Amino acid sequence: MKKESSDKVVDLNRILKEKESEIELLQQTFTEICSELDLDNVFRIASERARELINAETLLIPLLDNNCETYTYRGGAGKHADEVVGESLPLEFGVCGWVWKNKKPWWQGMLDQLSDDEKNAWEKESSTLILVPLQGKRHFLGGIAGMNKIGGGAFNKKDLNLLQLFASIVSIAIENAMAVSSMEASHRLNDDYRQRLEILNRQLTESSKELEYLSLYDSVTALPNRSLFHDRLTRDINEAQYDNSTIGILLIDIDNFKDINDTLGHDKGDILLNRIARRFEQSINPHETLARLGGDEFIVVLPGHNEAQTVTRAEAFVKSLQQDFNIEGNRIVVNASAGVAVYPEHGNEFSALLKHADVAMYDAKNSNAQVAVYDPASDRLEQGHLSLVSDIRKALEERRFELYYQPKISLDTGMVVAAEALGRWFDSSRGEVSPQIFIDVLENNGLINDYTYWAIDTALAQAKAWQKTFGYIRVAVNVSPQTLMHPDFRHNLDQVVINHDEGRLLTFEITENLFLSEFDRLADLLEHIRSLGIELSIDDYGTGYSSLSLLRRLKVSELKIDQSFVREIVDSRDNEILVHSTIKLAHNLGLGVVAEGVESQEVMDLLVDLGCDTIQGFLISRPLPAGQFADFVRSR
Ligand code: C2E
Ligand code: MG
Ligand code: MG
Repeated sequence: MKKESSDKVVDLNRILKEKESEIELLQQTFTEICSELDLDNVFRIASERARELINAETLLIPLLDNNCETYTYRGGAGKHADEVVGESLPLEFGVCGWVWKNKKPWWQGMLDQLSDDEKNAWEKESSTLILVPLQGKRHFLGGIAGMNKIGGGAFNKKDLNLLQLFASIVSIAIENAMAVSSMEASHRLNDDYRQRLEILNRQLTESSKELEYLSLYDSVTALPNRSLFHDRLTRDINEAQYDNSTIGILLIDIDNFKDINDTLGHDKGDILLNRIARRFEQSINPHETLARLGGDEFIVVLPGHNEAQTVTRAEAFVKSLQQDFNIEGNRIVVNASAGVAVYPEHGNEFSALLKHADVAMYDAKNSNAQVAVYDPASDRLEQGHLSLVSDIRKALEERRFELYYQPKISLDTGMVVAAEALGRWFDSSRGEVSPQIFIDVLENNGLINDYTYWAIDTALAQAKAWQKTFGYIRVAVNVSPQTLMHPDFRHNLDQVVINHDEGRLLTFEITENLFLSEFDRLADLLEHIRSLGIELSIDDYGTGYSSLSLLRRLKVSELKIDQSFVREIVDSRDNEILVHSTIKLAHNLGLGVVAEGVESQEVMDLLVDLGCDTIQGFLISRPLPAGQFADFVRSR
């Protein structure tokens, strides 16, 4: 009896001791784990403590994944744990699935609650496995699984109770640590986002700076564009209003820029525009604005300038182009026309001033002047450029253009040897519009080919008619580079000029600009033109860049020295030398020389001395309507 009771005491003592150490373990776990925020540490501590608690060979902590379709062994301790931790399995798989579904612990005492299928599948291992759910405050988290009792035997009810108690403690810690880690992850994500945002922001600022630049500056010339010009002029107008001052507005248009673009290509055209901008820039003061309006148009705003001052500046700008440009080895001479409008005389807001400068610029072109001031009284083009285009289109459809003829006189015999056909347009509301303007519009609106075939046809018919009365007078037609280079030109020409007899009555005047880049392509065509009996004449010679030997190879028969040289031979020794040497060289190559723009006897006399063959100019006659031209020939 005594032995029995003392055994009981020993037993009780043992149980008490066990309980004490279990409680101590739980407490320890609790303090350790609850202050632990690192999830991996929480799993490590929990697995080790739980394994000790229930004496399991292996302890694993499977946790439900975010996708709610799989679970992953996040923690483990003991035998083979390392191999399993990190593995993921489908949720419905195995005992874990059962625990998840039933939210109940699994241990051998559950066997009788299983379906027959489950019982068959799991009966064997039921005693070696214990799995209690980890239920967090908010979510079901997963479970704690013990496998194989150390020293054999089954996990019992006591193990179950202990593990459940344990699970209730660690689930809170796990949930906290998970919250912290997902917070950290989202912080990291945040930081990541912030960094990416910063980069994006920087890129955005840069590209918006670039956009701002592009929206205010012209990419070809790096000058302010129309929009910035608008701002500047508006600002200047406000200031001028305030201190009662004037502003000069100057619109500069490059003559025949389209030819340059067509013959040299747009790349070189752009380079030229850029060079022109740089040259203009040299004459600009800090408070003035030089902008590119688009195409070949530049605009200058000159605060504090009256009309006379603006005209002086305009002349200087145009003059600054006199020095030729060298674009990749090609010498290019550029002319320009400028229109002047002055605030407040010619308008007190942006659009009126711009429009009136434009009208003045057209006036300048129309009158062959370099600079013109807006003249409200003779504002014939007031109707604007758009209606000009449509009126020119209509004039072409209705064949309302005319050809005037200007005689070319032999300096040897004084006889009319040829005539240049020059387009004329008399518009009922605008009056006479210069070919400088309408040819430009025809070229820029795809109408020049149609016009040119009409001109060739008309000139040829005229030459044929004169042939009967006067014999042989060649008529020269100006052919734009655009038309000459059109793939259909050869075919269309063959429709207009049927045979050699007809061809002998024609000359084509082509500008020198044409021969640079297109030489190879044009050689065949020019040969064909010559085979029709048509002669080739180089117009405006001296303003382009072709070499004389190249012209020889192209079987050109005549050079027309540009008026700008001819007019000044008496005043400028340089021009005299230039004209003289051109004549000599041309003769050596078998080319005839025509001097254009001869306006005075003095010039004519000098040209005779220099050995020039033919002259054309107001001194002899202005371009005349066909009837008057016939009278003129008769009078000679
Ligand atoms: P261009 O071919 O060089 O023609 C000579 C220009 O000089 C003509 O101007 C003529 O009237 C002018 N002129 C002749 N002698 C004198 C003179 O002594 N002093 C002055 N100051 N000028 C003189 P126009 O008729 O105004 O033609 C200007 C330009 O328009 C022509 O220059 C030509 O490039 C173009 N053009 C005229 N008609 C046609 C045409 O039917 N087709 C094409 N493609 N262009 C044409
Ligand atoms: Mg000509
Ligand atoms: Mg000419």
